[in-house]
Amino acid sequence: MNAPETRHLALAEQYARAERLLLINGRWQPAASGKTFDVYNPANGEVIARVAEGDAADVELAVGAARAAFPKWAALPPAARSQILWKVGDLIDKHAQELAALESLDNGKPLSLALAVDIPLAAQTFRYYAGWADKLEGATTQTNLPNMHAYTLREPVGVCAQIVPWNFPLLMASWKVAPCLATGNVSILKPAEETPLTALRLAELMLEAGVPPGVINVIPGYGHTAGAALSAHPGVDKVAFTGSTEVGKLIVQAASGNLKKVSLELGGKSPNIVLADADLDAAITGSANAIFFNSGQVCVAGSRLYADRKIFDRVVDGVSQFAKSIKVAAGSDPQSQMGPLVSSTQFDRVTSYIRAGREEGARIVTGGGQIGQRGYFVEPTVMLDVNEGMRVVREEIFGPVLVAQPVDDLEQIAQVANDTPYGLAASVWTRDLGKAHKMAAMLKAGTVWINTHGALDPNMPFGGYKQSGWGREYGKESIELYTQMKAVYAQL
Ligand code: NAD
Repeated sequence: MNAPETRHLALAEQYARAERLLLINGRWQPAASGKTFDVYNPANGEVIARVAEGDAADVELAVGAARAAFPKWAALPPAARSQILWKVGDLIDKHAQELAALESLDNGKPLSLALAVDIPLAAQTFRYYAGWADKLEGATTQTNLPNMHAYTLREPVGVCAQIVPWNFPLLMASWKVAPCLATGNVSILKPAEETPLTALRLAELMLEAGVPPGVINVIPGYGHTAGAALSAHPGVDKVAFTGSTEVGKLIVQAASGNLKKVSLELGGKSPNIVLADADLDAAITGSANAIFFNSGQVCVAGSRLYADRKIFDRVVDGVSQFAKSIKVAAGSDPQSQMGPLVSSTQFDRVTSYIRAGREEGARIVTGGGQIGQRGYFVEPTVMLDVNEGMRVVREEIFGPVLVAQPVDDLEQIAQVANDTPYGLAASVWTRDLGKAHKMAAMLKAGTVWINTHGALDPNMPFGGYKQSGWGREYGKESIELYTQMKAVYAQL
């Protein structure tokens, strides 16, 4: 490891060790209860931080602060909001090394991954939505009514609760906060209890960039307390959530009290389809990365591999070789290509799925075990001899576990690929353009990739069919999520 990396990791540890508080109305403060919760390093299970544990009492204060801050922020000239958000993007870039070290420490992911993906994309997301702030429009409309001047106004929704998961902590916070603030809303952000650190650092940078008090509030804490209080609070106008489908359903119920707007980015069990005519080298590498990237803790992970029977063995063999070659190590190890799972809970969950697969008759051709005795490391795993009835094929594992099945023709492929309650993403590998676009039309998923997997751009919508979610984030679709239209009729 070179000297700057060592220094940034040491700084990240120091940052984590300091008193970490809630942000309400521009002030860092302890939880009303005085409680804190422990945050762990997934590479060794040791406590790295004690963070103020927000709950319903703190949510109450944050909602009050956000409500008070909303009118002024919404009335700010849009170019001023744009400038502030652009500056947040620049500050994220300026502190990229430090943020990457913090993310790696907290989540376990390789430092190189955080530096290449999480941090630059977070900065890009802020700049993308900074660009939208002064481009919001309504329309004038010709009606059938005589002498009527009719037009629409696009207005912010208000106070937004934003609840994010632990797999891309800073990036998911940015996906939520940037469009929310760009459109004149205010945010109460609840990071996942496993990984609150980069959200807290982001909020510091946002204050430095000039985000006024009360416009961004951060309440670290548990889902069933802080998260539930936010989702149910009558003073919250919208809740935006990324996480499990199970919790998404709880949020919908909680939100029904005041019928707050709800947007959901939920789980997936995304099919990755390799046709016989594909560039197999590219398809093998792409299929392996589709499931092993970020230790498989990705909502769009290509967790079900379907390959044409004629090339099935070759693809499985290639993906298995790739899996064996992955260097699994602590995120701070410069050689690490795959880190541990985020928590002991996630470790138990993933290993119990591997056990369930074995018990249901799946054959493990690669991996299947724990690595080392410390930390939450699981081997990249490939399972064969699986079928649609098995839990490992039907349920989201959220770990580096791939199930692979041979398939025959396009119709059958689409049928098995779509045979899931989820519909977040899918990918197809083929040199035949006609087949590629036919498959893209047949797949019931919010994103379809052709000859790639996982590519994302702020200018493209992202979200799920079926039980993978409600609404679309990214692109101009996120602007629609965070605004509402008012119709104005003026009799002339
Ligand atoms: P989760 O859905 O429980 O947690 C995500 C966020 O929701 C966290 O901030 C959490 O505190 C909050 N939360 C939990 N219960 C809540 C409640 N009742 N009300 C409001 N907020 C609540 O996810 P998890 O338990 O950390 O992981 C479980 C599974 O969820 C994973 O194994 C994976 O399958 C899935 N998951 C999906 C994504 C995704 O991006 N789609 C991300 C994380 C986890």
